[in-house]
Amino acid sequence: MPELPEVEIVRQSLNKKIKGKIIQKVLIKNRNLRFKIQSKFEQLIIKKKIKRVDRFSKYLILFFEDYTGCIIHLGMSGTIHLLRKYKKNSITNTSFYNSPLLPEKHNHIEISFEKFKLIYNDPRRFGYFLYIKNKDELKKKFSHFGPEPFSDSFNIKYISKYFKKKEKNIKNFLLDQKFVSGIGNIYASEILFLSKINPLKKGKNITLNECKKIIFNSKLVLIRAIKKGGSSIRDFKNISGNRGSFQKDFKVYQKENLKCPNFNCPGIIIKKFISNRSSFFCNICQK
Ligand SMILES: [Zn+2]
Repeated sequence: MPELPEVEIVRQSLNKKIKGKIIQKVLIKNRNLRFKIQSKFEQLIIKKKIKRVDRFSKYLILFFEDYTGCIIHLGMSGTIHLLRKYKKNSITNTSFYNSPLLPEKHNHIEISFEKFKLIYNDPRRFGYFLYIKNKDELKKKFSHFGPEPFSDSFNIKYISKYFKKKEKNIKNFLLDQKFVSGIGNIYASEILFLSKINPLKKGKNITLNECKKIIFNSKLVLIRAIKKGGSSIRDFKNISGNRGSFQKDFKVYQKENLKCPNFNCPGIIIKKFISNRSSFFCNICQK
């Protein structure tokens, strides 16, 4: 599943390519994504000029010049491909996703610009496209989400207040989008490892110092991952077809039975299912 860093990389690539461009044609081959695509979606976005591509948490937002927009969620397996027209078989074009890499099946949405096409591919169809008619509607859509780790509102006061008297464990807090937006399962394990906190530690037992570490390491892990081009375990690739390399930097994720990477720690990385999600942590230095 693409997580925040992967979505941010798609955003940066898309923003570079489609900012200022006008949508010429919209073709929907399958409306049955996670939510059925609005019946007038094609008419609503055609001829619109892209003001910029934004992101909140794991959601991409295309902003049009008339202050309407389109939310795109990649779900479990959604990818966005940019294809140059009439150059379908060319492998010389390095700045776009080349056709040999575009799957033949599951290309549900095609949005054409003057010189290229944006294609949405999603085998599992958990992603979606949603037209938004104004800023209020957008705000409402994200009103039940907690702040992003990069936001100033994700601060010590907010976190410590949230954890007070809570029995829920820290791993589940980090995955709870009402508490913080955009930290997925992979990054939660990495953040807790760097913070030396056991994923099963209850909210009420998290110290102020640990809150500080969580804030610091949440930003650190996500920024590092964005710089490295996202992680590409499973099927994520960025828009120029390059694979991200952050998975090489994982300290604990999918490292079960290996020695703890912390110098002088004799611990072993163990894997445990917490609320049905795999968690990886050191049995000694994470307390
Ligand atoms: Zn350790």
